[in-house]
Amino acid sequence: MQQRAESFLPGGVDSPVRAFRAVGGDPPFVERADGAYLYDADGNRYLDFFGSWGPMILGHAFPPVTEAIQSAAARGASFGASHAGEADLAELVQRCFPSVKKMRFVSSGTEACMSAIRLARGFTGRSFVIKFEGCYHGHADALLVKAGSGVATFGIPGSAGVPAETAMHTLALPYNDLAAVELAFENHQDQIACIIVEPVVGNAGTILPAAGYLQGLRELATRYGALLILDEVMTGFRLSLGGAQELYRIEPDLTTLGKIVGGGLPCGAFGGREDVMNFLAPLGPVYQAGTLSGNPLAMAAGIAQLSHLIAHADVIYPHLEMTTRSIAEGVAALAAEVGISITTNRVGSMFTWFFTPMPVEDFAQAAMSDTAAFARFHRAMLDAGVWLPPSQYEAAFVSMAHGPEEVAFALSAARQALAAVWCRCGGTPPSP
Ligand SMILES: *Cc1c(COP(=O)(O)O)cnc(C)c1O
Repeated sequence: MQQRAESFLPGGVDSPVRAFRAVGGDPPFVERADGAYLYDADGNRYLDFFGSWGPMILGHAFPPVTEAIQSAAARGASFGASHAGEADLAELVQRCFPSVKKMRFVSSGTEACMSAIRLARGFTGRSFVIKFEGCYHGHADALLVKAGSGVATFGIPGSAGVPAETAMHTLALPYNDLAAVELAFENHQDQIACIIVEPVVGNAGTILPAAGYLQGLRELATRYGALLILDEVMTGFRLSLGGAQELYRIEPDLTTLGKIVGGGLPCGAFGGREDVMNFLAPLGPVYQAGTLSGNPLAMAAGIAQLSHLIAHADVIYPHLEMTTRSIAEGVAALAAEVGISITTNRVGSMFTWFFTPMPVEDFAQAAMSDTAAFARFHRAMLDAGVWLPPSQYEAAFVSMAHGPEEVAFALSAARQALAAVWCRCGGTPPSP
């Protein structure tokens, strides 16, 4: 299957990190997924800790979502015309994100971020954009500057094919450093359209905002007349129903969403202040469009997933947090037992084990991790039946399908894997 894929697709994949280049070995080919597990074509079962990179917060093939997709499919896969499902999903999104007064659906997180930036530039009449090192906002040209995710995994400072003129208006600053943001505003008076930020970074591995950092960004954006865009493609509906903005009490001007909002189907959204959103065509001068935008299957899947999250939020979010804590801290404790220093960053159901003894509060610190040790750990975990995200620079996710049995399985796999990693590092094996 790998050879066949490679004969048709560059690297055998449709998205680079899937190729496992950062951790070695061939990636398994998934045949089906159910609950917390992936099943490959060789008949192996894996406990899944990447959840399709975020969307599967209720587990794979969650019956209400599956049924919603099936019943929508029977009514037609795409209309290219208005249907009630768009406002139905929008209403649910707004219930979770009160700052999103108006929104537009697109087909990916990339489109959401790209469109939000264009809108911010159109609204302010300014050109510059502030982003942060290690933050990933999809693969639109202007945002592929010191980006995280696959770009960090492959050590690419930007991307070939992005003209310097295109990236010239993107200012990439260190995360968690307010002084750098203030300096940029001072140096580019009346030129900065917006700040775009992952409120909790997931695409450099999990990195939390320092106390007061997001509030500081909010204040600086307001003071200098720029818009604050919170990229909640990953954190939206994950850290809480209302994402990071609810958790950290920040009101952005615009929010971008993806992943969970589409229940596993291609879907993203951007939205926020009504005066800003009304700058979009057909009301305003900023053009944005999509043949498959508001796709009826994606809307149906999103409605089913968000309805369930909203109805059971008081149970779901504490449960996810508790499961994540058990796994993240449990494995870190096992690592410490065998003398391996891991820094565990986690919030809600997002976490990362950085193979470094030092705290990780920005991308430069994340990049100090021993990625070779991470790669060995990843391979050993895969051999033990646990599929972690295949790069040090990606967040791991827990779903509602991860219960006590899955916690126990993950811990026992980690015990084996850590011993294997450690032995290959040249130490003596841990006592039984
Ligand atoms: C995944 C992600 C994106 C890009 O979304 P795609 O659907 O992959 O285009 C943008 N921003 C953040 C924070 C993400 O995690």
